[in-house]
Amino acid sequence: SALIPENHPRKESLVIREKIVEGVEEGYVAPQGLIAHGRGECFDYLFGEKTQHFAIEAIRASVALLLLAKYPVISVNGNMAALVPREIVELAREVNAKIEVNLFYRTPERERAIEKILKESGAQEVLGVGEDASATIPELFSERRRVSPRGILIADVVLLALEDGDRTEALVKMGKKVIAIDLNPLSRTARSASITIVDNIIRSFPLLIKYAKEMKKLRKEELEETLKKYDNKAVLSSSLKFLSQRLSEISL
Ligand code: ATP
Ligand code: MG
Repeated sequence: SALIPENHPRKESLVIREKIVEGVEEGYVAPQGLIAHGRGECFDYLFGEKTQHFAIEAIRASVALLLLAKYPVISVNGNMAALVPREIVELAREVNAKIEVNLFYRTPERERAIEKILKESGAQEVLGVGEDASATIPELFSERRRVSPRGILIADVVLLALEDGDRTEALVKMGKKVIAIDLNPLSRTARSASITIVDNIIRSFPLLIKYAKEMKKLRKEELEETLKKYDNKAVLSSSLKFLSQRLSEISL
């Protein structure tokens, strides 16, 4: 990979970028994943490359929802596999969720490459690969609608990231609760999800794991209370207020 100077002020961001580029070179990240990543970088820059209070609130509600779920599934694409493979597996273990490969640009090679990464990261089982993706989501066309009948099709809660708005909306219409990690609070995914974590997956996955370990000890009623108090519209609007305030402060 490219040489990144140790003292570069935004070294972390460049290291992450290199991982996505490697994913493209190895063929498991679609070229479109580069564009999605660039859009994320821009928002992350504006958010100060830190997990802000509105994201913490959404992360706590997400953990409550995952712990209360009957059949939670973590949906994985190329960018997620490139950036947080071990964390996906660890979170799935903590909240007892299934892991499913779900690609916008589906190819058998890409699916298998992502399955391999997840297995090397400790996953016992990876759904949605090849013949397993035999069920379809209503209202979506072509390969974009294929899911596993043992996974997303029957899930009550789906955690996804860098997801397309049409697909998120289709899952919500099917009656599923959707947790979306998306740095763009204006995307259709961010707006239609049940819980939107406006943060970088690089930081939110470790936090989801940390809170899952803590909140597992809570009683069911306490988890339900956390969920009841949660208001996704308010969280989205506070992310936008944060942006506008931060920009006004910087521009003084
Ligand atoms: P939508 O289809 O929901 O209206 P979109 O078409 O603008 O959104 P997509 O390309 O479908 O966006 O999805 C990529 C989304 O993921 C973008 O909103 C981008 O900001 C976000 N994103 C990119 N990288 C990350 C990351 N590392 N962590 C969290 N979100 C990210
Ligand atoms: Mg889109």
